Amino acid sequence: MYATIDPTTGGVVQKFPTLTAAETTDALTSTSRAYREWSRTAPADRAEVLRRMAELHRANIEELAATATLEMGKPITQARAEVELAASIYEYYATVWPSLLEDEVLDISGTGRALVKTEAIGPLLGIMPWNFPFYQVARFVAPNLLLGNTILLKHAPNCPQAALAIEAIATQSGAPTNVYRNLFATHEQVATMIASPLLQGISLTGSERAGRAVGALAGQNLKKCVLELGGSDPLLVLPEADLDRAAPAAANGRFWNAGQVCTSSKRAIITEPVWSEFVSRFLKEAATWSIGDPRADETRLGPLASVAARDEVAAQVADAIDKGAALHLGGEIPSGSGAYYPATVLSGVTPEMRAYHEEIFGPVAVLYRVENTDAAIVLANNSPFGLGSAVFTTDQNEAVDTADRLDVGMVGLNMLIRSSPEMPFGGVKNSGFGRELGRFGLDEFANKKLIRIH
Ligand code: NAP
Repeated sequence: MYATIDPTTGGVVQKFPTLTAAETTDALTSTSRAYREWSRTAPADRAEVLRRMAELHRANIEELAATATLEMGKPITQARAEVELAASIYEYYATVWPSLLEDEVLDISGTGRALVKTEAIGPLLGIMPWNFPFYQVARFVAPNLLLGNTILLKHAPNCPQAALAIEAIATQSGAPTNVYRNLFATHEQVATMIASPLLQGISLTGSERAGRAVGALAGQNLKKCVLELGGSDPLLVLPEADLDRAAPAAANGRFWNAGQVCTSSKRAIITEPVWSEFVSRFLKEAATWSIGDPRADETRLGPLASVAARDEVAAQVADAIDKGAALHLGGEIPSGSGAYYPATVLSGVTPEMRAYHEEIFGPVAVLYRVENTDAAIVLANNSPFGLGSAVFTTDQNEAVDTADRLDVGMVGLNMLIRSSPEMPFGGVKNSGFGRELGRFGLDEFANKKLIRIH
């Protein structure tokens, strides 16, 4: 069911009808027809649409941020930052497009030249999560509209108003009819679209479970797909770490957006020499993340996106405590309505506990104590996921060496990984495959067409 449900109360605000079978077919044929025209427009004109999308995100920042806050509970200051980040992505592709779309000229060993052109491939389906309702869409939509692909967008069922707002922005920015279609689609309709010969690719950001299901459909139908999935990012605090930096970064990385971030610092791995001091500083930081109304400017920790999501996090924590983990902070569902869960800190988590292997998508920090840097790297890599990571040490050689040894897609040295339009974003292992943003994101759904010149 596509519906706005206020996470501060659990109350249904507005419901939206799902797509019909006829609308599914129409969406495919219409975006396919629109593709023929759109892919032949001048790149500068497509870039202009993106520039206006950036402007409209900024012009409507208060309304868009309030929509994210209403639908998934993001504290309003973080929601504004998300809308600005989305705007910066549209602006980036609107600005740097000439270098990204330039033909590459190859000299072919004394026998002439070849060109590699970067062209569109057709209608694409984007399947998006609710945790960054504007930013996730921008990552997929901006490079692909620039290329000349057309977009079918299935957003998460709990952020329908954000989904409609983005579609309206695309239209008001001059995207011709059917170049961007928002679809309140069911899983069956997604499967129908993936099976259609009209659809040329799929990009999914979401859980490992969704990635397996959609990736299987893409494989069966020989469709290119990008999967941006879950993570259980390690944050390594090595013996020479500057704890003034590491402790606040670890708290910020874990509790921001109520911990509902794919690259949240879900596992803090602390080496023996700095364990006691780090834990004491981290707990002081964590205690400052008190729960509040997400609409208030001063709130940093709002509710989770839904009561069901909150209950899942509570179950993961309860499982760990039942099996002997130590609870340092939080861990109790507050009384009253809404999907609130407090900043929670656990240690002593062991492999028989769910918290050891699973992604915890909520404000729960898990602290691991290890002997030295080698042990920290072994533990960091002992995860089915490989998305982001952070390494804290003032020893530059050790920082670089550790970055090389981590099985992840992204490493922050003495800082957290924060997305930026120029930087590729993505992971390895069960965190998925493919990259978004920068020139890497543009190339995912491009036809690198070779033209050999005699
Ligand atoms: P989710 O439940 O997997 O849903 C993500 C999207 O996939 C939704 O639109 C969902 O729609 C759809 N979906 C799920 N199963 C599907 C299926 N079988 N067929 C078609 N569509 C399907 O994830 P979420 O709870 O929204 O988001 C949280 C997850 O996303 C976390 O694991 C997080 O780490 C990950 N994430 C990853 C990144 C990254 O860049 N790597 C970024 C943000 C979030 P329905 O609800 O209708 O199923």
